[in-house]
Amino acid sequence: MARQAKRIFLTEDQMPTKWYNVRADMKNKPAPLIHPGTHEPLTVEQMEPIFCTELCKQELDNDTKYIDIPEEVQEFYKIFRPSPLIRAYELEQALGTPAKIYYKFEGNNTSGSHKLNSAAAQVYYAKKQGLKGLTTETGAGQWGTALAMACKHFDMPLKVYMVKCSYEQKPYRKSIIETFGADIIPSPSTTTNVGRAILEKHPGTTGSLGCAISEAVEVATSTEGYRYVLGSVLNQVLLHQSIIGEEAKLQMEMVDEYPDIVIGCAGGGSNLGGIMASFMRDKLEGKNAPYFIAVEPASCPSMTRGTYAYDFCDTGHVTPLAKMYTIGSEFIPSPSHAGGLRYHGMSPIISQLYADGLIDEARAVEQTKVFEAANLFAKTETILPAPESSHAIRVAIDEALKCKETGEAKTILFNLTGTGYFDMSAYMSYADGSMKDFIPTDEDIKSGIAQLPQV
Ligand SMILES: *Cc1c(COP(=O)(O)O)cnc(C)c1O
Repeated sequence: MARQAKRIFLTEDQMPTKWYNVRADMKNKPAPLIHPGTHEPLTVEQMEPIFCTELCKQELDNDTKYIDIPEEVQEFYKIFRPSPLIRAYELEQALGTPAKIYYKFEGNNTSGSHKLNSAAAQVYYAKKQGLKGLTTETGAGQWGTALAMACKHFDMPLKVYMVKCSYEQKPYRKSIIETFGADIIPSPSTTTNVGRAILEKHPGTTGSLGCAISEAVEVATSTEGYRYVLGSVLNQVLLHQSIIGEEAKLQMEMVDEYPDIVIGCAGGGSNLGGIMASFMRDKLEGKNAPYFIAVEPASCPSMTRGTYAYDFCDTGHVTPLAKMYTIGSEFIPSPSHAGGLRYHGMSPIISQLYADGLIDEARAVEQTKVFEAANLFAKTETILPAPESSHAIRVAIDEALKCKETGEAKTILFNLTGTGYFDMSAYMSYADGSMKDFIPTDEDIKSGIAQLPQV
């Protein structure tokens, strides 16, 4: 029998034209965002000063199962999608595993990540509303880059607050974001009230996604015609990312496959929500479904060691409260190399699915183990993976090695969210042996959780 193709492509006209809203099928809906003062669920009217109106509606829509992808967004998607599904023959061979490993490769655009899927949608709706500009935060820089690309495409001004430790680790991110015409400011900065307050309380801090969000929201709400956009965590972002799972499911069907295990790395939960979406639909519809694994960094373990409670989405406490697995909004994770996974909380959708046992497992992995996997993957599959994505690779490899022991030929699907070209200092510190693993103590976690708001 001829070997099955390594890369499984869809044609343009096979591309999904709708996003799938998993909330419509969830019996227990994700808890609503609530106002930090009144603790009442937020309405579209209350969210409108912060977010673009159509996105507020998507944020609160727990019922519409399929939402049409606007034509302009579909056209933009066609620049970098459909993304290939790839059978990892070389990796399988190197591992000597009977398992079949597939990955969906989302890094084939200049942002080097899946984030462009939601950036395209969010900027489109902002433009349609006639907004004058957008603000956002970026951790590792992929979201800032993706958004800058989408803003250039739809002609929309953009200010990006970038977490300071990433800004310093990855100087080229600044240049690439500026190439697309956006402004970029390291956070915490002295350009906002909340930034100045954080700097006073924690002088010398290397920042966090939470701090950067606070600054971006402050600027959006105090500048006429501006709104804030977020690249992860929110329900709307998971909705847009469902394109990943919808494509992957079609591609698996084309080669007569169905995954036994689906793996995604989890920072705020958007790519995991995306790759999982269409298979979770099977589970919620009562059909056979894969075993779902969320992978997070041991340095920032919101699902494995956090608690499921209402918390602020940001360090400066200017955002609404979300019910999520969290290690506390004031927890500032150690400066690990997976910037995109350094977030204290987890998407409310992912959190509810995990609390209900619908996501089977969350696993925390240490960065030295992650980079070991990244190096093996690069050498075998020829793609240099992002540190974030390599968390999923680590677990895919571990599961494939288990198959080697048991002799089971399981089908494993993971999401390869992006490439790591801007992360070479991390690769260098792994190669020269100076990379350390940071694992917060129980005391650290307890003190983060002790600061949760009383709801
Ligand atoms: C942002 C990012 C992640 C993590 O974000 P999620 O919202 O959890 O998906 C993972 N991989 C890459 C490459 C990223 O840029």
